[in-house]
Amino acid sequence: ASKKEAALAATPSDSPTIFDMIISKEIPSTVVYEDDKVLAFRDITPQGPVHILLIPKVRDGLTGLCKAEERHIDILGRLLYTAKLVAKQEGLDEGFRIVINDGPQGCQSVYHLHVHLIGGRQMNWPPG
Ligand code: ADP
Repeated sequence: ASKKEAALAATPSDSPTIFDMIISKEIPSTVVYEDDKVLAFRDITPQGPVHILLIPKVRDGLTGLCKAEERHIDILGRLLYTAKLVAKQEGLDEGFRIVINDGPQGCQSVYHLHVHLIGGRQMNWPPG
């Protein structure tokens, strides 16, 4: 199935996701940044020379951005600020793209909020 078909088939849910096993290190990932709140690791299907996912270590109801509440403002800010730190660490001095897919129409497939950091090539606009 195409990515779009897979995303449309993925039902938004509160079930644990594969990212829980990445956080617990039950399945391997290439971690590029970690602190007590945020984990950043390389996407397994990179859409550019650099493609990193930044996630909250505790999901706290944030299956997607559409579920954000006031209590999430701090972690949402941290995710974006950390994306900037990681972009610098990865040498993306010419720019980069930040993406948050939400829900079936946004092509979200993993229901644990994550920020995509993509760079190392020229991006286009509008996105697909
Ligand atoms: P999409 O699959 O349309 O990109 P999302 O925005 O939900 O939707 O992104 C989930 C991302 O998680 C995908 O880019 C996918 O490649 C990545 N991914 C899934 N499993 C793993 C894994 N085990 N390690 C690293 N990245 C993963």
